[in-house]
Amino acid sequence: MAQETSRAVGPIVLLGPPGAGKGTQAKRIMEHYGIPQISTGDLLRENVNLGTELGQAAKAVMARGELVCDELVCNMVRHRLIQPDTRRGYILDGFPRTAAQAGWLDALLDHELFDKSRPTRAWPIVIQLDVDYNQLLLRITGRRTCPADGKIYNVHFQPPRVDEICDIDGTKLVSRNDDRLEVIQPRLTAYQEQTRPVAEYYQRTGRLISVNGDVPMDAVTDEIFRVLEDHHA
Ligand code: AMP
Repeated sequence: MAQETSRAVGPIVLLGPPGAGKGTQAKRIMEHYGIPQISTGDLLRENVNLGTELGQAAKAVMARGELVCDELVCNMVRHRLIQPDTRRGYILDGFPRTAAQAGWLDALLDHELFDKSRPTRAWPIVIQLDVDYNQLLLRITGRRTCPADGKIYNVHFQPPRVDEICDIDGTKLVSRNDDRLEVIQPRLTAYQEQTRPVAEYYQRTGRLISVNGDVPMDAVTDEIFRVLEDHHA
């Protein structure tokens, strides 16, 4: 249930390596502020499942743990951001992932989306989740998702009550195709090489806020809410 229904929150960018907890935290921000979570990974997986042209182009690249090309991802994001539910703000989860995407997003916010009738602030609040490498491996290999309601579990840290079954609706949990051990390394390499520059980009412009993602999930959420409240104070 959204606690705040009228205040503009603005764009929020969640940065961090695969397994840092971006998806979990994005869902909590979404519920708290009543703004949509826009996960480029989820949107791409949806396209793959539906067999769209974009999905067909992205499928093999994703299975290898590499990044889908900027043009395809940016077009998908543009299409999503012009939907009316983004008026008060939104959470970008998994985007931008390259310096080019970050520059593209700034240009989009500056030229296309910065419409004075929108209560949304123009520049994103960028929150980076810092997590230790060994923790990341456990989080990724232990991750299970409910295909029906999207709830995320972890067999090591947050197991379902019944092994491999969703607590909410009883659906059998699934592992993501790219959470296999052999794909994790390329994903972490893609992060180091292509996504680190994104953090540097925001750091240079004084917009990067780092949050310790190695503490329990609720403490991470509290810290993120504190950052967001401070930002709007
Ligand atoms: P995620 O669910 O965020 O871990 O994303 C899963 C996969 O989708 C990534 O390994 C990439 O192949 C692709 N992907 C998601 N977001 C992006 C992005 N912003 N740019 C390029 N590829 C992406």
